[in-house]
Amino acid sequence: MNEPEGQGRPRLALVNLGSGSSGNCSLLHAARDGRSCRVLIDLGFSIRRTRRQLDELGLELEDIDHVFLTHLDRDHFNPSWSRTLASLRIPVHVAPGHAAEALRAGCPEACLATLDDSAELEGGLEVHVISLAHDESGCSAFRFQLGDKRLGFATDLGHVPDELIEFFDGVHLLAFESNYDRSMQIESDRPEFLKQRIMGGRGHLSNEQSLNAILRIADRCELESIMLLHLSRQCNATWCIEELYAACAPQLRERLVITNQSDATPWIECTPLVHATGA
Ligand SMILES: [Zn+2]
Repeated sequence: MNEPEGQGRPRLALVNLGSGSSGNCSLLHAARDGRSCRVLIDLGFSIRRTRRQLDELGLELEDIDHVFLTHLDRDHFNPSWSRTLASLRIPVHVAPGHAAEALRAGCPEACLATLDDSAELEGGLEVHVISLAHDESGCSAFRFQLGDKRLGFATDLGHVPDELIEFFDGVHLLAFESNYDRSMQIESDRPEFLKQRIMGGRGHLSNEQSLNAILRIADRCELESIMLLHLSRQCNATWCIEELYAACAPQLRERLVITNQSDATPWIECTPLVHATGA
């Protein structure tokens, strides 16, 4: 399962190495004109596991050019990375509001890079960031662009503000949180404060909230692939999501890639629809 090569037309592709409350990490590969950029989004797993998964993709940690962190919760940044990041000198990009927390969590100062609004990386890969509500210190969502290809990435959202829908205007591949099934959450034996934290607008998105946002985004673009992130093991299930999409968005079912905590997805390519032009 090697990465796409990027010969000829530019390629932008994403693979999720596992997603959920025990850890999150995705790998993005951009390639154009023989130049390549590899980005890890979140570092929620151990170094050993991440190295093994990269090895299965034909890569090493040394091949990673950048890290972007959505936020600093333990399932998105594992502090065991501190020394490895320092020795590899991989830039770790966070929103300015997360910089102090990143240092406290063990991100080496020499690696820390703050991302205000947008940046251009190797090979012309553009990244744009937006800050959103989540727990105490919020969360960042990203939009990556290479040539005419756009990829959106958002997880751990308390709710979906209109500005996020606009931020994802024109994306072809969307990686988006779908955390819990509402009835499973309400009926679970979790303590009430935890349910309130998750469902209170600054925690996570239910499957229905996620789908509503995805439908709004899909209305504005040629959304070719949808990767669902951060499913709760206790309060969600693949069959719940499949039933929901079958009932409410059958047109999107074929485009879904549902992540899980333990296994990597295949590479998902960002491929804009090519419309046949009338004669
Ligand atoms: Zn999380």
